Amino acid sequence: MPHRITHPALMSLTDLEATWRVDTDLSLPECAYDPELHTGPRMAIEHADDRAARESVARQVCATCPLRPTCAAYAMRVRPTSGVWAGMSAADLPDLPDDTVGAFADAA
Ligand code: SF4
Repeated sequence: MPHRITHPALMSLTDLEATWRVDTDLSLPECAYDPELHTGPRMAIEHADDRAARESVARQVCATCPLRPTCAAYAMRVRPTSGVWAGMSAADLPDLPDDTVGAFADAA
């Protein structure tokens, strides 16, 4: 059975601690307060312009998220197919060079 990739906006703190292997005083990530900003609308078709605007705001939210390094390292490992992760769209992730992944992981 393939592993189901869950965006951090939709994970509980327990899920985040287990998935990201962190056990510090983890706070909910910024995206958890408005999940569809990062994942897109669940029950509606989104126009391309609306999607671009939504993803732009999502990237701004990620820019100040303290979990961004861990989120980026995780996204690069699991290769999601949708959503905004650590300020990057899923389509942007494969284009990052390997040393960027290492830099994110080292900062986590
Ligand atoms: S970096 Fe962005 S997507 Fe990742 S946990 Fe933080 S707010 Fe969510």
